[in-house]
Amino acid sequence: MTIEVTNLPTSGITCANCKACCCRLEVMLITETGVPKEHIETDAWGGEVMKRLEDGWCSAVDRETFMCTIYENRPWICREFEMGSYECIDERKNM
Ligand code: SF4
Ligand code: SF4
Repeated sequence: MTIEVTNLPTSGITCANCKACCCRLEVMLITETGVPKEHIETDAWGGEVMKRLEDGWCSAVDRETFMCTIYENRPWICREFEMGSYECIDERKNM
């Protein structure tokens, strides 16, 4: 199936003007990318997920810059999450 993406309302959407909205989602670790152990938690089903702090954000988010502090080792799901995608726009709306 080919997805038509040309009509996405992406104008002005960039991680640079976003407070890491997508970094409040649950992120499962499904491949080994070298995420430091202090950022990993085990969920109710025994799977590994990124730890989130009480403010809702992933523990690897820099709270001042909203940048990922483990960018080179970020999980596969984070690598696949596309800026300007429907999921991205949805998360930005929800903030
Ligand atoms: S991918 Fe989208 S939701 Fe995530 S930080 Fe970038 S602009 Fe924000
Ligand atoms: S690992 Fe980095 S990119 Fe992924 S949710 Fe945490 S801060 Fe965001």
